[in-house]
Amino acid sequence: MITPYAKEFITQLAYEKLVSICLDAKPLEACGILASSIAGGEAGGKAIVDTVIPITNTHIDPTHSFTFDPSEWTAAYYSMQKNRQSLVGLFHSHPRTDAIPSSSDSEGFLPASELSYWIVSLRCSEKPEIKPYRRIDGQFIPLELVLA
Ligand SMILES: [Zn+2]
Repeated sequence: MITPYAKEFITQLAYEKLVSICLDAKPLEACGILASSIAGGEAGGKAIVDTVIPITNTHIDPTHSFTFDPSEWTAAYYSMQKNRQSLVGLFHSHPRTDAIPSSSDSEGFLPASELSYWIVSLRCSEKPEIKPYRRIDGQFIPLELVLA
């Protein structure tokens, strides 16, 4: 299958921030949003993630699932708009498992969207793995992650 955007781009600083947010939240799943204030450049017009905003996980079982705190999510969205940033994707972590969408991830996400869904795996905590996906026809299609 050909996807319109087979790659996602992130700055080195944002990458490191994303990993540290997820490590700090362990053993709970961290979650939040990924935004961009940079367009174009090496990414060929595609937004580059340079902003990582953590959102409190209010799920009843936060070690295995996540839910965005609704008021923080709204506040983050408005702050992004105010700062002329675009929303690129949503992230959450898997503190013990691989960066593969779980069955509850499928239920929690929109069936199709322009947004990408990033999973940060801390299964090997010395070597966290970040994997972005796009949801197409109910399937999670893995994307390539490029440091920009
Ligand atoms: Zn998950």
